[in-house]
Amino acid sequence: MISAVELLQDLVRIPSPSGQEDAVVARLEDAFRQLGLAPSRHGRNLTALLDGGEGPLLLLNSHTDTVPVGTEWTKAPLSATIEDGRLYGRGANDAKGPLTAMILGAARAFQQDAPKGRVLLAASCEEEVLGQGLEKLLPLLPRPDAAVVGEPTGLRPAVAQKGLIVLEITAAGRSAHAAHGGGLNAIEAAARDVLALSKIRFEKMHAALGSPTLNVTQINGGARHNVIPDRCTLVVDIRTTPDYAPEEIVATVTRAVEGRVRVRSSRLGSVETDPAHAVVQAALSANPSARPYGSPTLSDWVFLKGIPTVKVGPGESQRSHTPDEFIEVAELEAGVIFYERLIRDYFAKAAQ
Ligand SMILES: [Zn+2]
Repeated sequence: MISAVELLQDLVRIPSPSGQEDAVVARLEDAFRQLGLAPSRHGRNLTALLDGGEGPLLLLNSHTDTVPVGTEWTKAPLSATIEDGRLYGRGANDAKGPLTAMILGAARAFQQDAPKGRVLLAASCEEEVLGQGLEKLLPLLPRPDAAVVGEPTGLRPAVAQKGLIVLEITAAGRSAHAAHGGGLNAIEAAARDVLALSKIRFEKMHAALGSPTLNVTQINGGARHNVIPDRCTLVVDIRTTPDYAPEEIVATVTRAVEGRVRVRSSRLGSVETDPAHAVVQAALSANPSARPYGSPTLSDWVFLKGIPTVKVGPGESQRSHTPDEFIEVAELEAGVIFYERLIRDYFAKAAQ
């Protein structure tokens, strides 16, 4: 069987920023065949079914795209060199490492003493932009009984994930020549809204995720130094929890500000899974030292609402999207063993 390190090096050496995954998908198709799996392509998404017979369907999903390489690297970002046990490269940690571990872990689980049930491997594209990937792929697949999303979590199972609402708040004023006075300054109105937003508190504490956060992340107003601006726009980033309906959060913000509120995005909801569910318990028995936690970052899990899901994989989230991104070879190899165990434990628990 091809080794995890070799496969990951191949994948890292093929650049795959979102939307440009074709070459990396072609390499994965070869890898699937080498492993005796039958790949099936849906656009730039790739799937394979591992069939151990009658039993539940477990979806194993991770993504092939990466964020752009970016700047400030001291290592070569696409050469997948290994130094002091660390494999460097864009995507090594997010998420080609978890993806590699997932594929090999699943292949190993079905190579000998295959579990009773089916695993659907899905390598999806455009996760980083939540575009043409899992959301488009899911309706083409049989509905899974449970799912695992492969992201770098230090092999700790995330049982909840925050959602995202993006709002635009536009303060309106009346322009005038700054020297003559008069007019109505939209930047001052927006400033009052920024202060009002900073005072909003979301009291309900979620056990895994805490409370929602709200941050003004962009402000745009004024055209010239000598014109009182008639318009100023704020962009607000809100990370939500399952305790609040998106409409409730939008209503709270709307009550607090003077400006006009426009919802730019609210489709990426918060998700959670009962920690007692078999898929979470399988992840915990595959890594008994781990405690379940709540993840503040988005992933393809947002598209799996209603399907019991755990987000877990080798590597660390803090290294994602950074220069000198890496995964430790030891982490990668532990990931292969972890996913194999998770699969075996899940089907064993499901059969009880
Ligand atoms: Zn990722």
